[in-house]
Amino acid sequence: MSKVILQECKSYGLSEVTNKINSGIEKLGGWNQFVKPGDIVLLKINLIGPKSSDSASITHCEFTRELVRILKGQGCTVWIGDSSGGAIAGMAPTTQSFKVSGYEKMAEEEGAEIKNFDREGVVEASCESRPGEKMFIAKPIFDADVVINLPKLKTHSAAIYTGAVKNVFGCIPGLRKAFYHKTAPDQAAFSQIISDIHRAGRFHLHIMDGITAMQGEGPTAGEPYNANKILISKDPVALDAVGAKMLNMSVDRVPILLTAQRRGIGEGNLDRIVLDGDYNTIPRLEGFKLPKKFRSNISKNSKAVTKVVDFFKARPTVNTKKCRKCNMCVESCPVQAINRETKKINYELCIECMCCHELCMFKAVELKSNNIVAGVITGLYNRKK
Ligand code: SF4
Ligand code: SF4
Repeated sequence: MSKVILQECKSYGLSEVTNKINSGIEKLGGWNQFVKPGDIVLLKINLIGPKSSDSASITHCEFTRELVRILKGQGCTVWIGDSSGGAIAGMAPTTQSFKVSGYEKMAEEEGAEIKNFDREGVVEASCESRPGEKMFIAKPIFDADVVINLPKLKTHSAAIYTGAVKNVFGCIPGLRKAFYHKTAPDQAAFSQIISDIHRAGRFHLHIMDGITAMQGEGPTAGEPYNANKILISKDPVALDAVGAKMLNMSVDRVPILLTAQRRGIGEGNLDRIVLDGDYNTIPRLEGFKLPKKFRSNISKNSKAVTKVVDFFKARPTVNTKKCRKCNMCVESCPVQAINRETKKINYELCIECMCCHELCMFKAVELKSNNIVAGVITGLYNRKK
């Protein structure tokens, strides 16, 4: 049985977050089960790109601040690390992300150390799903004594849901991430890579920032939703099974979770997960919006769901009125399908990885249905909203 602590937390006020995290950790045996004085603790945040904490795209800086204070209080040295997605001028924008998000300032104020995974070196590990192939994982994951994963509760335009399991993708430094999008273009193949990272890396504890979640076209183009939750577990799959259930989804609708469960990364069966904390049943997040292409009331019949999803299958297109010509999408596209000048997408090349949609910081890459009937229905739906 795996245990998930689900706490109600209505704001990023420091004392409220501290109380909820500390009382949750008590239910897992106390901080001394995880850290001891003198340990180096790495907080692996979600820093997908240069976004503010209030955008709900990243682990909120104040949430992490509180973890830093708690761990320093336990006598630990604290590192904060991640590698952002995409590329600008041939480089991942991680340095800019740490600045824009407020993390650089916060770390300085709190005496924590920023670990930009693009610059810290890598450790070679084997890639279980691809025998004979090596993975390169950010070195701080192995240098720290303890790694605490701090995911954000969000929707994802390609993966439906992103939480504790998927958050480890940022352990792949810089532009190497595009290699996996290119060589594992569909969700089934990409899910294997995520499980490979869990197998190769070390993640001791998972604490999800679900206070302000992202709904709609996540992981960056959605809108904030006040979910008011903190989830804590040693098991990332169990944590996400509870998180997904709050959004009215089951593990078998989220390929990354289903694969992780099958690969033994954790427990996805809710009957084998013990819920503790402020809740003893999983609450539904009323009115929470999934990405458009996954919206369906058919939650039990997965074949029917697949048909609905296929019918509404959307592909990315650049809205040139919103585009700021930063070229993040152009440089991040793993198959160079986006024209640098016109921003037109060559759909013969496009592998529908949705990286351009995920990484455009200006919400200029929109998802449009390639089915005329579905396009009309979606258009009418959008007008009604
Ligand atoms: S679509 Fe977005 S990412 Fe691409 S160039 Fe325009 S603003 Fe930049
Ligand atoms: S155009 Fe966008 S969705 Fe298509 S392959 Fe490139 S980054 Fe992926």
